[in-house]
This record gives sequence, structure tokens and C-alpha cells, in this order.
Amino acid sequence: MKKKSVWEQLSEEETRKTSMIAEDYRKFLSENKTERLCLKTFEKAAKGKKAFFYSEKNKIGGIARIKGDPRDGALWIAAHIDAPRLDLKPNPFYEEVGLAMLKTHYYGGIKKYQWTAIPLSLKGVILTESGKTIDVDIGDNPKDPVFTIADLLPHLSRKVQNDKKITEAIEGEKLTLLAGNIPLPREKEDAVKKHILRILKAQYGIIEEDLISAEIEVVPAGESRYVGFDKSLIGGYGHDDRICSYTSFRAILDAKIKKTAAVLFMDKEEIGSVGNTGAQSTFITDFIIKLLENAGIKPTYTNIRKVFMNSQAISADVGAGTNPNYQEVQDKYNAALIGYGLVITKYTGSGGKGGANDANAEFLWKIRKIFNKNKVIWQAAELGKVDEGGGGTVAKYLSNQGIDTIDIGIPILGMHSPFEIASIADIYEGYKGYKAFLSS
Ligand code: MN
Ligand code: MN
Repeated sequence: MKKKSVWEQLSEEETRKTSMIAEDYRKFLSENKTERLCLKTFEKAAKGKKAFFYSEKNKIGGIARIKGDPRDGALWIAAHIDAPRLDLKPNPFYEEVGLAMLKTHYYGGIKKYQWTAIPLSLKGVILTESGKTIDVDIGDNPKDPVFTIADLLPHLSRKVQNDKKITEAIEGEKLTLLAGNIPLPREKEDAVKKHILRILKAQYGIIEEDLISAEIEVVPAGESRYVGFDKSLIGGYGHDDRICSYTSFRAILDAKIKKTAAVLFMDKEEIGSVGNTGAQSTFITDFIIKLLENAGIKPTYTNIRKVFMNSQAISADVGAGTNPNYQEVQDKYNAALIGYGLVITKYTGSGGKGGANDANAEFLWKIRKIFNKNKVIWQAAELGKVDEGGGGTVAKYLSNQGIDTIDIGIPILGMHSPFEIASIADIYEGYKGYKAFLSS
């Protein structure tokens, strides 16, 4: 059971492939910082390959390759394409002390202090009253301005920040972006804010009220980058969970399928898989109905249940790699190492496995056999020490439908931070492992 680095086991050919996939992924991660953008990119690529693609509300979707009768069971991979971030509030604009500001409300489990004093971009959509959808994308083009949350100088932060707990030092209401400083001439009140609104009117044709019918996400600006002298790691925003979405998407296109296979891209995982675009919605059932219709089978309740009951799934979501600075939060005998391959997590949850998906031994046996046969490098791990914390994925919302489901993902460092880190060797093993499963 001794673990060995992926790098010590790759052939020359595979090392080359690792770099190629890593570079493709690095670009994908840089260019697809919202769920809408990810889905659009996957849909375009799927249509190019003439694969089945079905989506709802521009935020949740999936690709499938149909072979045989889906009622005999299908192989699924479910990943999520939302990521922790800040969202603009419905009434974001205000002005104080000569600065126009934008209010935000954070989305998902962020550590608030990590989002101050870094360049940020705005991405999303605004619907005008006439029904026009305006795409917003400011901050990633080097010619664009960026936005930022100004932090307090250390000289004055003793009482307001330094003496507080780290979770309370930066308040949610203080996550506000700098948006401008030039006042509109001859205006008495909110002259800077009015100037910004004038710019928005000129550039996008929008008025302040249009920001009500909008979804604008505040995300870290700039491209993903290689990390380390050997360029063995990629740092960027949104590895969780676009790293598993991307690798499973490539895997289904390349898999040598023997039966129906599908990869699902979920929204709202970071806030509990809720709403009509989360894994708890009827989306998976709707997807199966479309699959059956596509295969010429009536989507009766019995037929839909047959697909669920005979299917098997991987919940492809990131794992926690061991951070050299904080080894004390993990049981080193059951912890994932960066660069040591795909992480198999039998159960998630916290405390006494509360809120877990707990995969059964028989399914683990099947996975282990597939991976070993295909020389996929894997490690078995838990998220952290017992009672240290915990978390969950979309796994339980597949397994409660009757699908055998297991969590298998790529380990990362700095999860939920604006600059998450992953190993390019693990990215390759992710692709390889997901492809092996979908080809089984
Ligand atoms: Mn995740
Ligand atoms: Mn997450």
C-alpha cells in the first residue's frame, strides 16, 4: 500500500500527454469563470462532436453518448460548474467619501479575508427591460480595468481587525468593490455614482434598474498560471470543480463506451445543490427522459426508475490534498497527497458521517478493478481527521435515486480560495480514470 508519485510511474508518452492536457485545461479554466460560460463551452464542443447535450436554464446540463438500452443501466459522472465567489447585490451601487462602490453578497464557503486586496473581474448577464441580454465580461482582458476590495492599513487595523477572530475580522458587508472616483460636473449628490451610471449607459445601454434582472459574479481577475520551478502545478480560480468537469468532459468524448454514458454539470453545489439548477432538482430525471426519448423508448415512470436502479455513478469533485503547513488537520494514513493520483473517497460528511454519501463495498470493488486494469494511479482518502470538519458533494443526490455512487476526484490545495492549486499529473490521472470508468 505504499504510495508513489504519479511522476515516477508515467511513461515518456504519458508525460507528454500530461503537459498537453494541462495546457488545454489551464486555458479552459482561465476563460470559463462562471457556470454559464462553462456550460456554453461544453455545449459548443459537444455539438461539434455531434454528441447528445441537454441543459436547463443556461446553468445545468449534461452530455451523453447513447449505446444500447439505457434501461440496462448507464455510467454517469456528475461534477459541478459553480464555484465560490462574490455576487453583486440587487442594488449594488452607492457612493461614500468620493468613491463609487459596489455591494456584494458572497456565494459558497469563502474565507472572506482572501478576497480583499486582489484584482477582481465582473462576469455575467444583465437583462434590460426590453428583454435584451447583455453579456458582462470586464477585467480579464489586459486592457480592461479591474475591481478590488480595499483592505485596511495595518497601522489602523488593531481594534477593527487584528483583535478579532479570523472569521469575523472581515465582515460580509465590507466586501464592497471600488468602482470609480470621478464626479459628474455640477452634480450635488452622488456625483461619482452618477458618472459611473452614465458610463454604463454609454457602453452597455443599461440603466441602474437593469441591475435587478442581472447575475453578475465577482471573480479573481487574470489567467491561471503554472506554479513551481518545474511547472508541475496549476494555480487558478475555480479548480473546484471545473477541474473534474473538464477532465470528465474530455473523458466522455474519448471513451470507448460499451453502454450509455453521461457526464452531468451541476450548478449550486456550493450552496447545497438547491434550486432548479442544483442536483436536488428534477434535472437528472428530465435528462433521463430526454435520453430515453432519444433512444426511442417511452419515458414511463417504470422505465425512468430502471435507468436509475441499473446505473452507476462517480461524483467527480475535488479532494483536499495534504497542505505541508497544516498536516495536523489530516490523518496521514488516510490523507490525499498532491501528485499521487485520483482520490477515491468512500464516504463524505462530518462527525459520525453525518450528511454523507457512503458508497458500498461491492461498488468500490468494481472501481478498484477498473482502475487497476487501466493503470490509473489512485489513492484512497478521507477529507480530514475525524471530527475536524467535513463536507459533502452531489453524490448523495444521485445515490438517493438508487444509483450506486462514489466520490472520486482530483486533490487540490487552497480549496475555495481565489488561487487554488492542482497537480498536472493528477489532472491527467483524472482524465484517465474517468475515461476508464466510462469505457467499462
Ligand atoms: Mn466541489
Ligand atoms: Mn466546493
